[in-house]
Amino acid sequence: MNSDKLRRLRHQAFRHQNFLCFYCKFPMWDSDPRDFSIEHNIPSRLSKHLKCTAEHLVPRQDSGKDSTGNIVAACLWCNRMRHQGRPHKAPDAATYRMQVVRWVAAGRWHPIASSRRIVD
Ligand SMILES: [Zn+2]
Repeated sequence: MNSDKLRRLRHQAFRHQNFLCFYCKFPMWDSDPRDFSIEHNIPSRLSKHLKCTAEHLVPRQDSGKDSTGNIVAACLWCNRMRHQGRPHKAPDAATYRMQVVRWVAAGRWHPIASSRRIVD
């Protein structure tokens, strides 16, 4: 695995998405969770969920590539929830994104979504 390349792609996507998660649209942090917690008034035990990760739209195990078109920036929570417990059956990215948007709107997504004021 080429982690430098992946890191570069993640940074690129992170900036391109205005530092918001591809799925839930919450702000993410890339290097400093403490500053992030203060800036967004999020308890540090919750801000860990909003770490910026590289998300493969087409998962690696389904031959998804480390490439600009296949990497988006997603928070750790959304990334994990898409794949957790279903290594070969993750929903496709577009379907999952629609679900997440509905769940966030209903206040039923990550722990921050239900306790939150940073959503406008
Ligand atoms: Zn997210």
